[in-house]
Amino acid sequence: MAVIMDGRALARSYKERIAAQTAVMSHPPALAVILVGNDPASRTYVTNKEKDCAECGIISKEYALSVDTKEEDLLSLLEKLNRQPEIDGVLVQLPLPAGISEDKVIAAINPSKDVDAFHPYNVGLIATGNPQFLPCTPAGILALLDAYSIEIAGKHCVMVGRSNIVGKPMSLLLLGRNGTITICHSQTPDLPHITRMADILVTAVGRRDLITGSMVKEGAVVVDVAMNRDENGKFCGDVLFDEVMPKTSFITPVPGGVGPMTRIMLLENTLTAARLHGKA
Ligand code: NAP
Repeated sequence: MAVIMDGRALARSYKERIAAQTAVMSHPPALAVILVGNDPASRTYVTNKEKDCAECGIISKEYALSVDTKEEDLLSLLEKLNRQPEIDGVLVQLPLPAGISEDKVIAAINPSKDVDAFHPYNVGLIATGNPQFLPCTPAGILALLDAYSIEIAGKHCVMVGRSNIVGKPMSLLLLGRNGTITICHSQTPDLPHITRMADILVTAVGRRDLITGSMVKEGAVVVDVAMNRDENGKFCGDVLFDEVMPKTSFITPVPGGVGPMTRIMLLENTLTAARLHGKA
């Protein structure tokens, strides 16, 4: 019988622990959140992040910029926030409007305040196995695997998707835990042949029902990162859940699996940043 991994419950226990830690700090951690434009999904993400911060004793400061903000203005705001000692974390909500280079913006964040862990310096530290911050979604997945005592060492881990925010860093973290990793993407021929070899299958594509029952080995662990909508507008992942779940030993639901853990890891990173900056 498959165990459905409960990301919501685990996130709640992390929240309680973080709140207990910030409650005894003389200077609480502070996160600057920058939103450029009025994309409704981005607005929701930012509001959720601010709500999470408030629940955990983290100060959040929002900078809502208009859609026609110039790249140089955003860069000078970042320069200002980089220098402010009271700000521990700086997060720029992606995607940015056309005309602003995400690479330039990410590279302009002080790496010690880069709580998304997207700056090339932090990506380098992750790649060399010595991270100061872990990227939120992969860190949330590791926390889930650990919470359910799922061994990674020696396991064949198949990562479907190679994005900079999920697929690549997830592969590196699994490798760091001594998994044997195969990374698949849109040019991978015969995806089912590879997914069937997975002891641990992580999928982050964004295509509903991509992973069917016949693509999964009996007893595999399946982690579904994707956030798609079904025909009724309800969230669903890449995995055809009802077909895949009975074959697995552990599986994450969508929603309620990886999503809440991603949110919590931003708070964890903000706390880490505050400690890096000497707050106690
Ligand atoms: P992305 O940047 O669009 O990357 C998607 C990846 O899937 C790419 O590497 C792409 O390959 C690969 N791909 C596309 N079609 C494929 C196919 N038929 N077979 C195998 N691989 C295929 O997406 P992302 O930002 O990583 O996000 C992926 C999903 O996770 C989205 O649904 C997103 O909403 C969700 N997400 C959820 C969370 C969370 O907290 N739950 C966090 C982040 C993202 P190429 O590189 O060859 O194009």
